[in-house]
Amino acid sequence: MPTFRTPLSTVVEAADGTLLGARVAADGQWRFPPPDSLPDKYVTCLINYEDRFFRWHPGVNPVAVVKALTDNIRAGETVRGGSTITMQVARLARGNPDRTYGGKIIEIFSALKLELFRSKKAILTLYAANAPFGGNTVGIEAAAWRYTGRGTDDMTWAEAATLSVLPNAPSLIYPGRNSDQLRVKRDRLLMALAERGLMDSLTCSLAMSEPLPGAAMHMPSLAPHLTSRLWMTSSEKRVRTTVDPLLQHAVSELVNSHQLSLEGNQIHNAAAIVIEVASGHVLAYAGNSTLSDTTGRHGRDVDMITAPRSTGSIMKPFLYAGLLSSGVMLPNALIADIPTRFQGFRPENSDFTYSGAVPAGDALARSLNIPAVHMLRMLEEERFLSQLRRMGFTTFDKPASYYGLSLILGGGEASLWELAGAYASMARVLNNSLDGTAAADDWHMPVIQSAVLSPQSSVSSLWIRHRRRHNPDHEGRRDSNLQSPIGNRQSKIENRNSSVLPNNVSQATDPSLTPASIWLTYEALRRVNRPETETGWQYFGGAPEVAWKTGTSYGFRDAWAIGTTPAYVVAVWAGNADGEGRPGLSGITSAAPLLFDIIRLLQPASGSWFSRPEEGMTLVEVCSSSGFRAGPDCPDRREEWVPEAGLRSGACPYHITINLDPTEKYRVSIACAPPGEMVSRPWFVLPPAMEYYYRMRNPSYHTLPPFLPGCADDMKVQSMEFIYPPRDARIFIPRNLQGKLMSMLPEIAHRRRNAVIYWHLDNSYIGMTKYSHQTELQVGEGEHIITAVDDKGVTVSRKFYCIGTF
Ligand SMILES: [Zn+2]
Repeated sequence: MPTFRTPLSTVVEAADGTLLGARVAADGQWRFPPPDSLPDKYVTCLINYEDRFFRWHPGVNPVAVVKALTDNIRAGETVRGGSTITMQVARLARGNPDRTYGGKIIEIFSALKLELFRSKKAILTLYAANAPFGGNTVGIEAAAWRYTGRGTDDMTWAEAATLSVLPNAPSLIYPGRNSDQLRVKRDRLLMALAERGLMDSLTCSLAMSEPLPGAAMHMPSLAPHLTSRLWMTSSEKRVRTTVDPLLQHAVSELVNSHQLSLEGNQIHNAAAIVIEVASGHVLAYAGNSTLSDTTGRHGRDVDMITAPRSTGSIMKPFLYAGLLSSGVMLPNALIADIPTRFQGFRPENSDFTYSGAVPAGDALARSLNIPAVHMLRMLEEERFLSQLRRMGFTTFDKPASYYGLSLILGGGEASLWELAGAYASMARVLNNSLDGTAAADDWHMPVIQSAVLSPQSSVSSLWIRHRRRHNPDHEGRRDSNLQSPIGNRQSKIENRNSSVLPNNVSQATDPSLTPASIWLTYEALRRVNRPETETGWQYFGGAPEVAWKTGTSYGFRDAWAIGTTPAYVVAVWAGNADGEGRPGLSGITSAAPLLFDIIRLLQPASGSWFSRPEEGMTLVEVCSSSGFRAGPDCPDRREEWVPEAGLRSGACPYHITINLDPTEKYRVSIACAPPGEMVSRPWFVLPPAMEYYYRMRNPSYHTLPPFLPGCADDMKVQSMEFIYPPRDARIFIPRNLQGKLMSMLPEIAHRRRNAVIYWHLDNSYIGMTKYSHQTELQVGEGEHIITAVDDKGVTVSRKFYCIGTF
C-alpha cells in the first residue's frame, strides 16, 4: 500500500479558510497538506487529460497499457506511459523515480491495492496533493497560489487546464522558455473538453484566450508573525485560526502606518492584537510592522506579541481590581501621594508633582506612581504576584523579593499576548456574570486555533457578524449576540471545542477577581482622559466608549495601550525590538493613537457598556471627603456601590471632632474654656505631609484653627511630620572629590504657617527654619537621629542609617 511520508508545509488559514500564510516543508518544498476537496473544473480537466476511464477502471487500464506497450515498441523508446492516475499516485509515493518496466509492475500492484482500500475521491486527492508543478511547488493548492495568486476556490477553466497538464511536464512552467508548448497542451485539453460536451464552444474560446501564468508568485503573507509562531508551535500542518481576514488586513495596515509615523523618532517596531471577549478568539494578530526594512537591523521579523517586555503602568488595573476584590480598600478611598521612599527607591509621578492624597480610582485613571506603590504595599507583593500567576502570566517567575514594590511600576515583564488575554478574561468574567452564564473556565488565555477544519463549517459566526454589520437587512437581529445570554453560551460552547492554545502557553486559572471589582476597575479606566496628566487626551475626544490604560516603561523603551469594550480587547505595543529607548516614546503618544484607530474599526456605532453587577455589590455610606466607610465624625456622607468584601474595610481615619470658641476661629480645650462656651465641630484633618500637598490643590481644605491664646495644645492632632528622611531609612550619600560625604536635605511639613522649627542631629543643635522647613545637613557614616522641635515644644524625630558611596 503506497503511503506518503514526505514533509509538509505549514499552512495557516483564517477563520473562513482564507490563506493567511504558509511556510515551506522541511525539504524546502511548497507541499500543502491534502485539501478537503478539489475544485470541480480541475477534476474534470485532470481526468480528461490523464485518465479518461479513471472512474471505471480498477486501478489499471489494460487497454491503455497494451496501447502504450505497442506504441513504445514501434517507436523504440518510451513515448507514453499508459499509467492511470492511481498508478501515478503509486509512483509519486515511491518518490517519482525514472520509468522502468520493473517499476511499472510494482506500480500496477500498488494501484490495485489502493483501489481496494481507498475511494476514487481519496485517490484523486492524493494525486492532486503530491503532483509536481515545477520548481519547489508540489500539489494543486500550492500550485494555484504560486501560479494564479489565488486559492483553488474560483479557478477558471484555463487555470484548471494549465494545472492539469503541468505535472506531466513540470519544466514547461518556467516563463518564456516553453510557454508555446504549454499553451498547445492546455488548448488541446480545452478543445477536447468542448468536443466531449463538457463545456460550450464560447467558454472554450474564452478560456483559450486567457494568458498563461507568469513567474511564480509569493505566497500570501497576511499574518507573517502568526504564521511563524504556529509553524514553530503547532503540531498541525493545516492550522485553521480564529483570525478575521478583513480585520487582519486592516489592522496590519494600521500597524504599518503608525510605525511609519514613529520612524522619524527611530522607533522601528509596533504590534497589535484584537481579541473577541466572549470567545477569547484572536481576530487580528499583527506581530510587528511589515514595512520593508532595507537595513535588516530593525528586527521586524520578531513577534512582539509574544516577547516579554517591561510593563510600565499597564499592570496597575490588576492591582486595583485585586485590592477591591480582597476588600482591603474601597474604590475611592484616599491614597497618599507625597514624596515617599520605599525599600531603597523613591518613585515619582510622571509629572513630578504630588497631590497629597487622591481617591484610589483617580490615582488609577491618572496612572499616578506613588499611590500605586502605596496600594501594592496594602495588598503585599507576594499576594499580587500570586494573583498575576493565577491570571495566566508566565513571566513573573521570580520571588517577590526580586521585584519588591517596583513590581507595579514596570519591575517585571509581560507579553502583549498575556496582557491582552488577562484584560479579555476580566471583561468575559464580568459579561458572563451579568448574563448569569458564569462558568469556571471563563478565565483563559487567548484562543488562536479553531478546531473547526471542515470547509462546510468554515464560515465562522464572526465572519457572518462582520458582514451583517454592513448589511442593514440583518439589522441588529443577532448583531448584539455577544451581549445576549444565548450568544454568550454559544460562543462558550464553541470555545470549549477549540484546541485552545499553541502548546507553549500555559493555561490560566481563576484569579478570583470578583465581577464587582472588575466593573469598578473598568469604570475608573473609562475616566482615563483627564487633562491634568494625560496631555493630548483631547485628541481622543470622539472615541467610542472604552476603558483604556497606557503604560511607558523605564527608559522610554516600551509604549503600551490596551483598551476594552464589552465585545473586544485591543492591545498595542510600540518601541524597538532591540530594547533601545527613545525620548518621546510613551504609551499616550506612541501607542494610544493606534489603539483608537483599531477600536474605531471594530465599532462603527457606539456600543453598549458594561452594566453594574447586581450580585456581590452593596451600597454603603462613605465619607464624602475620604472615600472610606463613614465613621461617627464624618459630616458629609454619600452612598456608594462597593464590592461586598469592602464591608471589611476600615472607617474614615481623617475626621475628628474638635472644640472651638464661640467665634469658631480658635480651638479650645477643657482646660481653658468652660464646656458651655465650646462649640464642637467635625474637622477633616490629613496627616501633615499629606495636608501640605493636598491643600495646594484643594482650596476647600481648611487647616485646623489655631488654639486660643493661652490655651495649651492638647496634642491630640499631630502638628508636624517628616517628609524626609523616611522612618528607619538606609540612605546612600555620595562622596565629593575630597572623599567627604555630600549633604542631605531633611524636610518637615508643619500645619501652622508661621511655625518655627529647631533642628538637632544626634542631640546637637544644628539650626532653625521658618515657613519652609528644609535644612542642609552634613552627616558621617552610621546611625543617626534627627530631631525637630517647634516653637510650642512639640518634638518629632527620625532614626536613619547613612551609607557613603563613591
Ligand atoms: Zn470622614
